[in-house]
Amino acid sequence: MKKLTNKIPDIVQKGEVVLRETALKVPVGEIKTEKIQKILKDMSAALATQDDGVAIAAPQIGLSLRIFVVSRKVEIMLKGLEEAPEAERAAIKDAVYINPEISKVSKKKQIMDEGCLSVRPFFGKVERAEKATVTAYDEHGKKFTRGATGLLAQIFQHETDHLNGVLFIDKATDLKEVPLASTNPE
Ligand code: ZN
Repeated sequence: MKKLTNKIPDIVQKGEVVLRETALKVPVGEIKTEKIQKILKDMSAALATQDDGVAIAAPQIGLSLRIFVVSRKVEIMLKGLEEAPEAERAAIKDAVYINPEISKVSKKKQIMDEGCLSVRPFFGKVERAEKATVTAYDEHGKKFTRGATGLLAQIFQHETDHLNGVLFIDKATDLKEVPLASTNPE
């Protein structure tokens, strides 16, 4: 595991072993520790450096732990608050998913455009369940369940794959290089 520093961590790129490992569960009793809280901060900070990024998994900053973070941008979009004043949006934070388990997916699948912060600058088409339900712990150690459709359901599946050492390029068709990102890498 990488040593923790105050620098914003770099996003690990394809080829690094950590992206292919099965990440380890976070002991629930440790969620509130300084160590885990610092990791959550680092993940959000790394994600915030990516204008087009919508989510990040811990292995993408070099840590083999079962955590992913979804950008507040997604929540703002889902709530239709893109045009709302910042005062209204300020309360919306990145969403933390610790030890996430997908408990349910719809039979109905859809083909979605997909990219990854760790597989720049490739995009492709991936078949994902249209709906997915995830159970996880938040940053306070509270267990919750959330169902999602569309983009958020896609994020749940893409990020859970990361925690199992799977990258979207393992599943994608029509892979192509897109120098200027026009979709949402995760
Ligand atoms: Zn990714």
